Amino acid sequence: MQTDQATLKDRHHKILQTIQSHVNPAKGSPAELIAVSKTQPESQVRAVFALGQRLFGENYAQELQDKAEALKDLPIHWIYIGHLQSNKLKKIVTYASEIQTVASFEHARHIARHAREAEKTPFPIFLEVNAEGETSKSGIPAEDILPLAKRIETELPELKLRGLMVIPPDSYSDEACKDVPELYRKLRTLANQVGEGKLSLGMSNDLRIALEAGSDFVRVGTAIFGRRS
Ligand SMILES: *Cc1c(COP(=O)(O)O)cnc(C)c1O
Repeated sequence: MQTDQATLKDRHHKILQTIQSHVNPAKGSPAELIAVSKTQPESQVRAVFALGQRLFGENYAQELQDKAEALKDLPIHWIYIGHLQSNKLKKIVTYASEIQTVASFEHARHIARHAREAEKTPFPIFLEVNAEGETSKSGIPAEDILPLAKRIETELPELKLRGLMVIPPDSYSDEACKDVPELYRKLRTLANQVGEGKLSLGMSNDLRIALEAGSDFVRVGTAIFGRRS
């Protein structure tokens, strides 16, 4: 379903207002909004770009390539937030300007090599943490994050380690949580110790609690574009 321009404008504006109302005085700058455009047609991306949005998130390598090619007249900053596979990394490095879902040293090493070949160094990455050690979810267990971060910083100068990215379990939502969950506070503290110390946490359903926890990047799809078909 295509969402009309007026609705997109209202929703986008509302998200930006929520972000603005949660600026941490100690930090000063608002969290950055990544509009998650997976499965959305090119026309919807153009419509949201027209509202001033510049960061867009994509989850699939081929879809990223198709959209980046179709929209190359626009200065969009594509951020890859999907599952990584070694054989797709070259394509992703070619079209994305940042990868937020790095979950192994092997993938980091391949990204470093492709970034060097594409002359896109230092290439920005986030480590994806598996928030509660759920085996069904991707990401690195929290206790392995700091050693991996250190190894990447020592051995892969082609990368710029920006911080931590998290997809929390569905049970964490603005509706279910009145206060900032303990888990979110722990993630904030852990992210401070990783590279540039950025935290990418918060989606449509947990936007408020993620902002209250001090997230630096929120990734919002449904609340802007509507339900994905
Ligand atoms: C799809 C997706 C989002 C956006 O989720 P919404 O609930 O639609 O806001 C955010 N982050 C990641 C990693 C995603 O895959």
